[in-house]
Amino acid sequence: MSSAFRKVAIIGLGLIGGSLAAALRARGLADSIVAGGRSARTLERGLALGLIDAGYQDLAKAVDGADLVFVAVPVSAMADTFAAMAPGLAPGVVITDGGSVKGAVIDAARAQLGAHRSRFVPGHPIAGKEKSGVDAADAALYERHRVILTPTPETDPAATLVVRQMWTRVGAEVLTMRPDEHDRVLAETSHLPHLLAFSLVDTLARQGDSTEIFRYAAGGFRDFTRIASSDPVMWHDIFTENRDAVLAATDLFAAGLARFRDAVAAGDSDALLGVMTRANSARARFLAMNARTSYTHIYAEQAMNTDSQRTGSENAANPVFVVQPGAQLSGQARVPGDKSISHRSIMLGALAEGVTEVEGFLEGEDALATLQTFRDLGVVIEGPHAGRVRIHGVGLQGLQAPSRSLYMGNSGTSMRLLMGLLAGQPFDCELTGDASLSQRPMERVARPLRDMGAAVSTTDSGGKGTPPVRIRGGKALKGIDYDLPVASAQVKSAILLAGLYAEGETRVTEPAPTRDHTERMLAGFGYAVQRDGASVTLSGGGTLRACHLDVPADISSAAFFLVAASIAPGSELLLPHVGINPTRTGVIDILRLMGADITVENERDAGGEPVADLRVRSAPLKGIVIPEHLVPLAIDEFPVLFVAAACADGETILHGAEELRVKESDRIQVMADGLLALGVDAEVYPDGIRIRGAGQGNAAFTGGEIQSHGDHRIAMSFAMAALRASGEIRIHDCANVATSFPGFAELAARAGLQLVVA
Ligand code: NAP
Repeated sequence: MSSAFRKVAIIGLGLIGGSLAAALRARGLADSIVAGGRSARTLERGLALGLIDAGYQDLAKAVDGADLVFVAVPVSAMADTFAAMAPGLAPGVVITDGGSVKGAVIDAARAQLGAHRSRFVPGHPIAGKEKSGVDAADAALYERHRVILTPTPETDPAATLVVRQMWTRVGAEVLTMRPDEHDRVLAETSHLPHLLAFSLVDTLARQGDSTEIFRYAAGGFRDFTRIASSDPVMWHDIFTENRDAVLAATDLFAAGLARFRDAVAAGDSDALLGVMTRANSARARFLAMNARTSYTHIYAEQAMNTDSQRTGSENAANPVFVVQPGAQLSGQARVPGDKSISHRSIMLGALAEGVTEVEGFLEGEDALATLQTFRDLGVVIEGPHAGRVRIHGVGLQGLQAPSRSLYMGNSGTSMRLLMGLLAGQPFDCELTGDASLSQRPMERVARPLRDMGAAVSTTDSGGKGTPPVRIRGGKALKGIDYDLPVASAQVKSAILLAGLYAEGETRVTEPAPTRDHTERMLAGFGYAVQRDGASVTLSGGGTLRACHLDVPADISSAAFFLVAASIAPGSELLLPHVGINPTRTGVIDILRLMGADITVENERDAGGEPVADLRVRSAPLKGIVIPEHLVPLAIDEFPVLFVAAACADGETILHGAEELRVKESDRIQVMADGLLALGVDAEVYPDGIRIRGAGQGNAAFTGGEIQSHGDHRIAMSFAMAALRASGEIRIHDCANVATSFPGFAELAARAGLQLVVA
């Protein structure tokens, strides 16, 4: 195979140039590699290290006959270097560079490279070390690092392609940007932090007692100032050659620093917490973006860094649950907060007067998207930390215009509810989501909002009316009397939230009961809501009062433990503070029909929601025909109910549950596949399943391997099956468990399940 290049000339054989020579050599990408440089010693070192085949102090000689030239001298030396090598450049040669500033290098190339300038591709590898010189050269320096190319309109696209391929082949990821954009972004993200680090260390070192200061300096000082060890000459050049962008970034920072200083001086806690909580979440977002991971992982990691106890489970890329057979469950298990209620706690807390304290908040991806959105709308929110959030409410009229689009991730609840809430604001905004949310229909929310006088537009995408959703502010809304065409808690909630801003009464009537968390929580925040049969009515212009909210534990998550303690002989488990909203309790009704021993203790109200402690003791279960009217009230709990059915005496039959086929997976088929793999007698129907149970006293499952297809509820259900298995069960693809049930593995293990995460 022939090499990519006949001859590559590296001009400036230091860290950056030497590393490219080493990387090309290691991959056999050039027949010959030569260097040009000012000092004979460096060139000799390059030869001795085996990086180059020849070295020249005459740069025109060095580039003679080369098909690729890479210039890696300090930015201030670029112009002289280009001038010195220009006479030796062959026709058609591609020239690129590694300078950290692009505008100045492009000017130098225009002035010195003559006709070759269209074959000059400006570039900047975002890779480096604090060490410099040829001895620091490293063949792996560019692997999995970014290289920014900044071609100008006069750059030949064929030359850009050659350079792009070269960097890709040494393991880098290539991006392109406009040169001025590059210089601005780098000034803000790299040059400014270096300036601050140099300045901080120098400022403190000038103090009379600097030795004392440094002696007691803690780890934070070392971390913050690490980059003050970088090469002064190179950084001198960068600050000089990127002067304007560095000054603009420094001014921006100085203004922010002055605001921070003022807040400290004035003891303005809201402003201080605002800066720091926004910085926390912006950094989490930045880390998530860089790691191409989710907020959930970042917050879980942050929590683990500060909590001594770590779950260790949901952080591996694709964890496998390994569960040993048998065991009893005992003690208490507080399962995470309800997702629907977590969303609404942030929304209403933000719109309330005063500080709302939330406990039991579900730190899942979707609720975190809502939390981030309200930060973008100017609300100060502390946390989440171990389920605790403090929301500094701004009142119904206190939201501020966001400085960019509001990003809802994958959360349909966030987008639909916020459409209603934002329809009545004085400012414009745009709501966007990830690829999957961008396919979901939003018109059924937009239409009634328009009837109220809102200016809401969706994106057509084939008539589906999808995100991005754009809302023009400053519209006077008026109340409506709306009959929901289809039962939907999200549409109902969006209209009610818009109704808070509307003149007069807003009434929504639903064709069938849906989750009523919004109405209940509005009442919990002291807002007058009238409920009359299938209708809910409220009037605009009221006030929400901050409150303390202990988010009820999610009954869908509690369901795994209700089944687990029922099927594992000798178990008794208490599940505290579980939401028992009557629109959600089908799982308790079905389990009781099967003979489960579940008692509902200590019923009470939490922010408008009924909650109770559920005590469950193991009991012999019997197979039943599941009443169809209970199906919608337990739709998310069927995977684990199938596990209960496999342990029961006799057959359990389910019909009328076709919706299960369009959840995160085809839950009928995927559960049936798993049950069959574990030796259970099951038969699939288009709208349900028949399962023959093993009966009390018998192992209901063999051991085996389960594919969860990334469906969190399938994974958790089969983990519980091990309680009645005869061998080890291994469940694959469990990463998504963190989305609905952070800390599941740890909680289940504490209750007695013999589960480890591999
Ligand atoms: P380096 O290790 O110090 O190497 C610099 C090279 O340039 C050496 O070969 C040096 O020659 C030569 N040189 C220095 N001053 C010169 C002058 N006045 N005239 C001609 N040649 C001169 O520096 P580096 O880190 O490789 O940086 C090279 C370029 O890459 C710079 O433009 C820098 O902005 C850019 N860059 C650096 C990093 C980083 O983190 N280090 C990252 C990305 C981009 P001698 O060997 O004879 O001294």
